[in-house]
Amino acid sequence: MSNLLIYKRTKKYIRLKYTIAWYVGILFFFILYFSGIVPVYIFFRKKYLKQYLTFVLMYHRIDNVKTDRDITVSIKNFENQMKYLRQNYDVISLDTLLSRHKQNHIKQIDEIAVTFDDGFKDNFTNAFPILRKYDIPASIFVATNFIDKNEGLSREDIFLMKKRNIAFGSHTRTHNVLSETDKNSALEEIRGSKKILEEILQDDVRYFAYPYGKRELDFNDDSMRIVKEAGYSAAFSTNNGCITNNSDIFALERLGVRDFPMFVFKVRISGIFENKWIHILWKYLGV
Ligand SMILES: [Zn+2]
Repeated sequence: MSNLLIYKRTKKYIRLKYTIAWYVGILFFFILYFSGIVPVYIFFRKKYLKQYLTFVLMYHRIDNVKTDRDITVSIKNFENQMKYLRQNYDVISLDTLLSRHKQNHIKQIDEIAVTFDDGFKDNFTNAFPILRKYDIPASIFVATNFIDKNEGLSREDIFLMKKRNIAFGSHTRTHNVLSETDKNSALEEIRGSKKILEEILQDDVRYFAYPYGKRELDFNDDSMRIVKEAGYSAAFSTNNGCITNNSDIFALERLGVRDFPMFVFKVRISGIFENKWIHILWKYLGV
């Protein structure tokens, strides 16, 4: 059998495994939500435990054309999600989130911030009008080499959104894996992108998001040190979870949003997976 054939079969197998995992996951969320477990959990957590959480959501593309299926959320779904956030959460900017984090502020309601990675054009054409409609103060992490390219945001888009409550952070220049990059190139990626964005925005760039974003795999302590020394105030990973007092300010957790049904979205940001016992069960099931 040729290598190509083996490759094709393996790819097909991975895709199949992935599709099965997706549907098993959806079924699991369906049971959690419609059995009433999650709504009861939310009620109990807020009313009796007086526990309130802080989440940072991570989006990439908002579009009905699914060229990048795994990172694209449909426009309709995105609108429903923003509406739900506006009605049920204190939707805050990263500035507010970080200043509250420093002050150890006591929460009265669940808090949530919205972020986008990469800097796709559809963030301007499709997401921005919805963010405006629901008055959501989002942040976009841009890989600066994509600016003014085919599917990337233009300088004008960035400047216009900045004037209307959208913040910008850096996501390197070329979207490379920082843990596999030599020190000088990493410096250029992290510092250079900050400088380019600051020129466009005519303002400070305070936040950074690591490309691919898994701690130890895609970035490491060296990357974190460079980010800190470059003058950023905080940095975001793609490690799942909510922001707690134990969170590392240069490797803050986020929740990636995909084009899943609304009940999955609600379960994901209910905080139920932050509960120790359910967290263990979730890991054990390996979903
Ligand atoms: Zn990215």
